[in-house]
Amino acid sequence: MKNSKKTLLIVGGGFAGMTIITQTYKQFNIVLLDQKSYFEFVPSVFNAFIHPESIFDLTLQFKQSKFGVLFIQGKLTHIENNIAYYQGGQIEFDYCAITIGSNYTNPIKSTIPKLSDRFIELKKTQQKIIESQTILIIGGGTVGVELACEIKAAYKQKTVAIITKGKILSTMPKSASVYAKKRIQDLGIEFKEDYKGPSLDSNFDLVFNCKGNTYENIRLDDNFEMFDSKKQFLVDDYLKIRTNSNIFCAGDICLSSQNETKTAFSAEMQGEIIAYNLKHPNKQIKSYWIPNTYIISLGGWKAIFIFESFTFGGFLPYLMKLFIEVVVVNDFRGVIGFNIIHQIMNYIVYMMLYIYMIIQLLLAIAPLGSKIKQDQRVELKRIQQEIEEFKKQ
Ligand SMILES: Cc1cc2nc3c(=O)[nH]c(=O)nc-3n(C[C@H](O)[C@H](O)[C@H](O)COP(=O)(O)OP(=O)(O)OC[C@H]3O[C@@H](n4cnc5c(N)ncnc54)[C@H](O)[C@@H]3O)c2cc1C
Repeated sequence: MKNSKKTLLIVGGGFAGMTIITQTYKQFNIVLLDQKSYFEFVPSVFNAFIHPESIFDLTLQFKQSKFGVLFIQGKLTHIENNIAYYQGGQIEFDYCAITIGSNYTNPIKSTIPKLSDRFIELKKTQQKIIESQTILIIGGGTVGVELACEIKAAYKQKTVAIITKGKILSTMPKSASVYAKKRIQDLGIEFKEDYKGPSLDSNFDLVFNCKGNTYENIRLDDNFEMFDSKKQFLVDDYLKIRTNSNIFCAGDICLSSQNETKTAFSAEMQGEIIAYNLKHPNKQIKSYWIPNTYIISLGGWKAIFIFESFTFGGFLPYLMKLFIEVVVVNDFRGVIGFNIIHQIMNYIVYMMLYIYMIIQLLLAIAPLGSKIKQDQRVELKRIQQEIEEFKKQ
């Protein structure tokens, strides 16, 4: 008998794509199209620069998926109506989720198709780091800071420098930037903020470009315009491509009206919204507020945890990141029990958001309360004075 389930095409098996798979595989025939044959837990990649064999703990091969997914390896080139074209073929779908993420310079975010070749790429990177005495990181955002700290913590004798055209961690809360700068100084990393001088590449043995994400140029339908200047897809409140209600989009590649910070967590949360909307076509939900949360590794078992404007650093955030890595990778591998732990973890983040909002509200009200008390004290004093004067009379 022919299977009556609809076909859901997921393009890109990253954080957003894998979240959709884990939550809809029972309801849909899922086809996964990815240019690579494996998922990679990108946030921990710098550990694999120092210990390349750790890449096997950070990855899973799509072919071994336990979710009954049909995996096709290929690079999406364009979509017209309900057909997706990739180099080498085409796939017809009922629904599609575009979750192709963003690009970053090699070897930080790799497009290498096979995991065994990715391992070789990381071994070569490790070798280059070992052989280089002076290393320059261009960019002082989260990626640049993580990379500099990981290298310097592992190879203390090397000269590691960061140059950045703005400030260190300029998009993060001030306390995170202060903590990171202190760590950078303690490790002996040289850094120059507001750098506008000439290229310093030739002064260093090895240079890593950490200037930020770039995006693929993918055409959907000839008639539709859906890119902004950065080539992200514009979506509506339900995370659908504005011009095609059967195509959803999440993660780094998606530009929603909330303009959330692009993180693995926000990619997962958007994946959850899409999974819900696919399963409940008659009561779809709008994209909700996604808290800005991030953990930045600072080498040597140290990290900073950032939650909206609240931050704290040390060993605990490092442990939290390790825990998240194990939970996410094992959930995406389909290991029993990890999906529920992953869900609980995400609920805790939302509980934290509520607590955070209550604290913010109390902090906003507190000065108001003390103003009222002050007014009452002035009034009381005035009455006491009047009584005193009355007694004197
Ligand atoms: C070094 C580094 C460290 C980071 N650290 C953190 C962190 O600590 N915490 C955090 O929350 N975020 C972190 N981020 C950001 C986080 O990794 C991204 O926000 C997240 O990976 C986005 O998930 P995604 O599902 O949108 O895309 P991705 O995870 O990038 O997955 C996209 C997938 O689509 C595939 N693909 C791409 N183009 C095509 C195509 N044309 N056809 C077919 N398949 C395609 C790719 O092969 C990939 O498998 C970090 C990023 C970097 C680079």
